[in-house]
Amino acid sequence: ELQLTSAVEAFMSCYPDVKKAIGASEKIFEYLDRKPQMPPDGSLAPQTLEGHLQFKNVTFAYPNRPDTAVLKAFSLELKAGQMTALVGPSGGGKSTCVSLVERFYQPQEGEILLDGKPLHNYKNQYLHNKIAVVSQEPVLFARSVKENIKYGLEEASDEDMFSAAKIANAHKFINDLPNGYDTDARGRSGGQKQRIAIARALIGRPQILVLDDATSSLDTESEHLVHQALLSSSHCAILLITHRLSAVEKACHIIFLQGGEVLEEGSHAELMKKGGSYAQQVQKQNTVFQRNKEGVI
Ligand code: ATP
Repeated sequence: ELQLTSAVEAFMSCYPDVKKAIGASEKIFEYLDRKPQMPPDGSLAPQTLEGHLQFKNVTFAYPNRPDTAVLKAFSLELKAGQMTALVGPSGGGKSTCVSLVERFYQPQEGEILLDGKPLHNYKNQYLHNKIAVVSQEPVLFARSVKENIKYGLEEASDEDMFSAAKIANAHKFINDLPNGYDTDARGRSGGQKQRIAIARALIGRPQILVLDDATSSLDTESEHLVHQALLSSSHCAILLITHRLSAVEKACHIIFLQGGEVLEEGSHAELMKKGGSYAQQVQKQNTVFQRNKEGVI
C-alpha cells in the first residue's frame, strides 16, 4: 500500500509536467494538421493551354479550423495577357488563394477551373510546369546566378535565360556582377533575389504567373518596369498579390479582399471614383510615401 501511495504521489508531483507535455503534443498535432495534403493526381495534360483560370464561388476553410471559412463564395478570373491584382488587409485570404491554385488544398464549395476544366483533373506535373508561383522570399541555391535561373530547366538556352532576365529587369545588374551570370547567387540583395526568382519562373514559359508579394523588395520604379515588361513581353495570365497599391494601377482588374470576401472590385480608376476602402488605402499609402520622401517620418 505504501508503494502504491508513493507511486501516486510521484505521479501527482510530475502531473503538471505531464499535463504540459500533453498540451504541447496537442499543439504539435495542430501544427501538423496545418500541413497541406498531397493532391491526388489527375490525367489531363493538353498540348495547348490558354491559361484561363477561374475561381467560382469558392468557399474554403483550413482542415484544422473547419468552422472558419477563410474564403466565402469567392470568385476570380485570370486571362492570358492580363494582370489581375489581389489586394486587401492582412489575413484577408490572399495567400490562401495561392495555396488553392497550387492545389495544396481543395475548396469545400465552388470550383476552380483551368480552361474550363476542374483544376484537380490535371496532372500535377503538368500544372507544375504551367503555373509558376514566385513568393516574397524566394529560395536561391548556393550556385551561380545562371544555375539558379535555369534550375530544373538546364536544357534552356542562354538566349532564353537572357530574355527571361530582361523581363525580370535583372539582366543589367547581373551583367554588372564581377562574373556576370556565373557569379555566385549568394549575397544578393532582397530585390536582386526576387528578380532572379522571377527570371527563373519565366524561363519555363508558364501560362499562369502568380507573384505573391514577389516584388516587395524592389523600389517602385523597378517594380513598375518588371510589371510593364511582363505585360508587354509575356503572354501569361498574371495574378499579382501585393500590399503596395501603387503597383496595381496597371492591373486590368483589382479585387479588394477582406475577411475572405470581395469588398470591392474593378479597375483602379473605377475604384478610385467609388471612394471606398481601396481609395482610402491608396490615399493613406500616398500620404506615408509623401511624408517619407519629405523626411517627415
Ligand atoms: P497577408 O496579407 O498577411 O499575407 P492574407 O490576405 O494572405 O494575409 P491568408 O494568409 O490567406 O491572408 O490568411 C487568411 C486567414 O487564414 C487568416 O485568418 C489566417 O490566420 C488563416 N490561415 C492561413 N494559413 C492557415 C493555415 N495553414 N491553417 C489555418 N489557418 C490559416
